[in-house]
Order: sequence, then structure tokens, then C-alpha cells
Amino acid sequence: MRERIDEAIELIWLLNEDGHQSLKRFRLSSEDDDVETLIPALEKEGLIVISEDIVEFTEKGYLMARALIRRLRLAERLFTDVFEMPEDTVITDACKMEHILSEELTDSVCTFLGHPPTCPHGKPIPRGECCKKYKIDVVPVVTRLSEFEVGSKGRIVFIVPAEPLRLNKLNYLGITAGSIIKLLQRNPSYVIKIDETTIAIDPEIAKEIYVKKVV
Ligand SMILES: [Zn+2]
Ligand SMILES: [Zn+2]
Repeated sequence: MRERIDEAIELIWLLNEDGHQSLKRFRLSSEDDDVETLIPALEKEGLIVISEDIVEFTEKGYLMARALIRRLRLAERLFTDVFEMPEDTVITDACKMEHILSEELTDSVCTFLGHPPTCPHGKPIPRGECCKKYKIDVVPVVTRLSEFEVGSKGRIVFIVPAEPLRLNKLNYLGITAGSIIKLLQRNPSYVIKIDETTIAIDPEIAKEIYVKKVV
């Protein structure tokens, strides 16, 4: 149900962007198997109000949709700009990502991407708290481990392995999103410390690990 509700309020947002507010239009556009139970569920959750044929967000619904759209479009940017995937294939993955990205991670991704104003399709990305701070704080918050300073501590934000199997191996070593690491050396190979364990990492893999500095 959660995902159906997410999909529905996203759709209402998209229709609003195109100037459509009618319930009829929503019914026609929805791909949900059971729109007739979905609509009252949205009302019951306090996300929308319906008067006559007009659907409007409540404040709760508006904020929820806004956050979802923000995550979706940032995920799209991430897939096209960082993973260099073609635009038309990103949508489905981005759709999954938007449910995975936490709010904190969303702002990290936004900052890392340089607070992009639009998605790859040219639609506006709702601004976040991080975007307001941008003018003062221009240093990217998330950097590759390969560009990280020796002696610094960071939290792994995400890993983009060239080979998917690598992720399991890294996971096994404790190198996973959320782990706190300290970079001990860069040459001849990267050495990081996680808890009390020191691990050597190939330079190639150090490029695939994105960290956020912690103090
Ligand atoms: Zn888009
Ligand atoms: Zn931002």
C-alpha cells in the first residue's frame, strides 16, 4: 500500500505540474489496479482533499509528494551524470531508488551533484535544505575515497562498483554504506581503517567508494 500511495501522490504532483487537477484525469492516468480504493485511502491518510472533481494536496500530502519527486529526480541525475546511463533507461531504476534514499542521503546526493535545478528531462527538482546552504558552503560534501585526505575520517555514503560482485566482497570486509572509515595512506595502495581493522584497497576500487567527511 505504501508504494501505491507514493505512486499516486507522485502522479498527482506530475499532473499538477502540467496544470491538471481533475480527479477524472487522475483516474485515467493512474496505473494502479484499484484506483477506486486508492482514492479514499489517500483521503483517509490526510494527503489529499477532493471537492467536486478537483484534487488538491493537503500540506502533508504536498510535502510528501515534494520529497518523493525530489528524490526521484535526484536519483535520475545520479544515474545519468554519475553512472552515465542513457536517459531513457534511468526511470525504472530511479523509481526504485527514490524509495531507498533516506532524507540525509538525498541531501548528500544533491550536494555531490552540485544542487542540480532540473532532472535530465528538464523538470524542476524541488529544493532541499542543502541547496539553501550552498552559497556559503561550496565544497562538495561527498568525495571519492581516492580523493580523500590521508588522516581524515569519513562515512561511506555509497559505492558504485564497476563489477557488481565486488559489492559483496566489500560488504564482507565491512566496507559498506554507513561505515565510518579513516584513510591511513594512499601509496602504494589505499589503506583504510574500519573499527580496529586495517584494509588495503586497490586505487581502482578507491574511486568507486564515495565518502563524506566526518569530524
Ligand atoms: Zn526526469
Ligand atoms: Zn541541494
